[in-house]
Amino acid sequence: MNIRSQQSLQSYNTFGIKAFAARFAEVHSVEALRELLRANITPLQVLGGGSNILLTGDLSGLVLKMAIGGVEITEEDDRSAVIAAGAGFHWHRLVEWTLDRNLGGLENLSLIPGTAGAAPIQNIGAYGAELKDVFEKLEAMEVATGRQVVFTSADCLFGYRHSIFKGELSGRYIITKVYLRLSKQPQLRLSYTNLADTLREMGAAQPTIRDVSRAVIRIRQSKLPDPAVTGNAGSFFRNPEIGEDQLADLMKRHGDLPHYALPEGRIKIPAGWLIEKAGWKGYRVGDAGCHERQALVLVNHGHASGKEILQLARRIQISIAELFGITLQPEVNIW
Ligand code: FAD
Ligand code: NAP
Repeated sequence: MNIRSQQSLQSYNTFGIKAFAARFAEVHSVEALRELLRANITPLQVLGGGSNILLTGDLSGLVLKMAIGGVEITEEDDRSAVIAAGAGFHWHRLVEWTLDRNLGGLENLSLIPGTAGAAPIQNIGAYGAELKDVFEKLEAMEVATGRQVVFTSADCLFGYRHSIFKGELSGRYIITKVYLRLSKQPQLRLSYTNLADTLREMGAAQPTIRDVSRAVIRIRQSKLPDPAVTGNAGSFFRNPEIGEDQLADLMKRHGDLPHYALPEGRIKIPAGWLIEKAGWKGYRVGDAGCHERQALVLVNHGHASGKEILQLARRIQISIAELFGITLQPEVNIW
């Protein structure tokens, strides 16, 4: 059991925030994880690629960096294959691995940072696809007992950028392996206009899953800040959901308000549009800022602290509530 003391977390979070963990260990196997849990060091924080967290101070307990690797096909027939990936497997490398085998389902989720084990936590999604569309099951260890438990899709209660692991089971299980069912006859999902437009620009008349992945990568690279250059954790807030009455009311004042229908009569409003409309796009205070191409992404221009980023987020929340009567909720996990 190799537990390090006073470990800097700056290179372990994509915001690039300076903070320390009192205790830190990399977890390479289920057995090592069980042994680390037996040490009973609290509070416990589980870290994947650190691409969806904001560190607002030093951490007093134990940080477990998930590094369980490996990927394999566990089941296959003429139509589909089930793959199993260790929780620490790099997400985009997993997407590449499936594309190399012509297995469809992850192409729209190309270039999302982070690990396979974190993907179910918020049911990662992009360009009209979500993890739950291909999810088969996962294995997780119960923190309190070290027991290994299997969760099916129904058990995970997946929702829009949500799962049971962000809700009632928050902090109680550590995901160790994820199983995904991928298709050998993929149905492409091209409902997002900019994805279809980009494929056309690329000259892909009959796109393959590899073409879709390339198009997604191209759009993302043109629009989103690269965390290796500018610290960020992707979308800072979730897109809010409102009802039809509130939409009608807002449309009277903002006729150009983009909106998308969700199940059960709910309507999704792009948080980035609200933030841009409120004038925050490109705003900077010290080294904390709102990205100049995508207002939903808060950035660390160099030496911002987590508290400074959080302060900016609070100011944005207040302004959106005043202007639109909508309370934005962070999508990023605040530590
Ligand atoms: P971390 O940030 O390390 O952890 C996130 C949360 O999951 C924490 O609460 C952590 O405790 C928990 N966790 C991590 N691993 C485990 C585990 N094995 N068991 C239990 N709990 C665990 N997200 C999207 O949904 N769609 C996108 O398109 C998208 N684009 C992004 C683009 C950029 C540039 C960036 C920086 C982020 C983006 N994100 C996106 C957010 C982020 O990449 C995803 O949420 C990703 O799944 C987080 O993975 P991670 O390994 O970095 O998790
Ligand atoms: P975009 O394409 O400019 O669209 C803006 C918003 O409108 C998105 O949030 C998206 O919702 C919604 N939208 C657009 N077309 C839609 C359609 N046909 N049907 C339903 N909803 C639609 O967004 P973007 O910022 O460039 O991001 C592109 C994709 O990558 C999005 O899916 C986004 O979620 C994802 N992304 C996520 C993160 C993250 O950290 N979570 C970071 C970067 C990009 P959805 O967000 O629900 O798709």
